[in-house]
Amino acid sequence: MKPCILDFTKEELALHVKPSFRAKQIYSWVYHKYANSFNEMQNLPKAMRESLRDEFSIMPLKTLKKEEASDGTIKYLFELDDGKTVETVLLRMKEAHTDEDGINHAAKYTVCVSTQVGCKVGCTFCLTAKGGFTRDLSAGEIVAQVLAVKIDNDLAAHRRLNIVYMGMGEPLDNLENLAKAIQIFKDEEGLAISGKRQTVSTSGLSSKIDKLGEMNLGVHIAISLHAVDDALRSELIPMNKAYNIASIIEAVKRFPIDMRKRVMFEYLVIKGKNDDLGSAKKLVKLLHGIKAKVNLIFFNPYEGSDYDRPSRADMVAFQEYLVQHGLLCTIRDSKGIDISAACGQLKEKTEEEKRI
Ligand code: SAH
Ligand code: SF4
Repeated sequence: MKPCILDFTKEELALHVKPSFRAKQIYSWVYHKYANSFNEMQNLPKAMRESLRDEFSIMPLKTLKKEEASDGTIKYLFELDDGKTVETVLLRMKEAHTDEDGINHAAKYTVCVSTQVGCKVGCTFCLTAKGGFTRDLSAGEIVAQVLAVKIDNDLAAHRRLNIVYMGMGEPLDNLENLAKAIQIFKDEEGLAISGKRQTVSTSGLSSKIDKLGEMNLGVHIAISLHAVDDALRSELIPMNKAYNIASIIEAVKRFPIDMRKRVMFEYLVIKGKNDDLGSAKKLVKLLHGIKAKVNLIFFNPYEGSDYDRPSRADMVAFQEYLVQHGLLCTIRDSKGIDISAACGQLKEKTEEEKRI
């Protein structure tokens, strides 16, 4: 199979195409003009276009399925070159609007990307975990998800968007390719998505949190905490036996963060498991001294899941307790609830349909 052009940083590409300013031109064609063939890259010499065509591919994804929710969330199921599939979600955080001063504001977008086909971590609440682990995504396959979503929605090259690594897979278990994708995204002559606009969500591989920090890529981290004591956390996230809560908190304290920013702690609320005020109290204690922000997520049940969705009243009481005790806390509204919101669910649905 031909290597994919999206897998190359501009500097790497410059080693392949001479003179090196050609790499900049190719980046512009791919990331700004959304070219889908080398032939249309008119400012490159014909011979170069032909050799690029023989040597590289451009887009390693095909859209297999697309679902749009009533709130504007769009979920994609992409097929990779080897026939494996991953999910990507476009979230519309804010609609385009005109404020009272007559100023137009563009819509705000966030793309939720996958980093692996399947996942090794095996969380008991997560549908992605049920299918086991298949393989890591390459940097190009991570980059391609954002590019494909921009192209499909006619989002102009200069349109800013945020990236969250919260799709399928554990990003820090694929750190090398993740770091390369982050760098490709950041390239000013490519998609130009700064580190500040990228958030890596992790189930807590503490040693890799340190490694990511040492790379100084300027990205944010979000910790999928979900429980305040090790017994329950190990039940929900088996890997917690190797990387316990204390080790994660220590790694977070070492992580370089922008002075004005906070570390996000995600807390998946499961009925009767971790939705009580005793847990809220322990959470306040645990996060003491950290510039934290807590994001409460409703557990989203699926067919055959072992857990239940918490009540809204319990969720609100939990949030109020945290806020009263000085923590910033939001409740994640279930975007795209009518299109199998939590990751892994669209893929599962398609596979079920295939089986029927
Ligand atoms: N592996 C990383 C990256 C995101 S995993 C991590 O665990 O942090 C995908 C996200 O979906 C996580 O935030 C997880 O908490 C959430 N999730 C998984 N199953 C869910 C479910 N059934 N209901 C709601 N959220 C779920
Ligand atoms: Fe993997 Fe994240 Fe799902 Fe856990 S929640 S199995 S780490 S994708």
